[in-house]
Amino acid sequence: MNNDYVTLTIGRQKNIALIAHDGKKAELIEWCRENYDILKNHFLCGTGTTARMITDKTGLPVRGYNSGPLGGDQQIGAKIVEGQVDFVIFFSDPLTAAPHDPDVKALLRIAQVYDIPMANNKATADFLINSTYMDKEYDHNVMNFKKNVENRANSL
Ligand code: PGA
Repeated sequence: MNNDYVTLTIGRQKNIALIAHDGKKAELIEWCRENYDILKNHFLCGTGTTARMITDKTGLPVRGYNSGPLGGDQQIGAKIVEGQVDFVIFFSDPLTAAPHDPDVKALLRIAQVYDIPMANNKATADFLINSTYMDKEYDHNVMNFKKNVENRANSL
């Protein structure tokens, strides 16, 4: 492969972001309870209210960012860019309009750009969390952003 891409490694211990819209918070908390023994082996973070509720109700330590509508989804997107979040479980609510819909779209997009495993519903989360990759390293190819900037700066 040429140097347009770089190989990054998602470690054995994942940096997992947990997010749930209000109508899905109970479902995500229950999912965290069911998967407690797996999740306790990883580093957890999440949007403010989701993080707080998971910790309160399951005892799992979850580092909280701002609440979603106040920029929490954007903070998690920024952590993906910085390589500090490499796995996302986002129980979004497809039936309720949210004021921060553009932020949610931005998070989906940046997770795609960085080839981050991301579940948007329980079934996908179940498949991801039971994957054999959960306790292995995983190499993936991500665009070489330094090279990309160099090419753009030289060609535009
Ligand atoms: P919250 O944000 O965890 O602070 O409720 C989640 C969201 O709505 O994106």
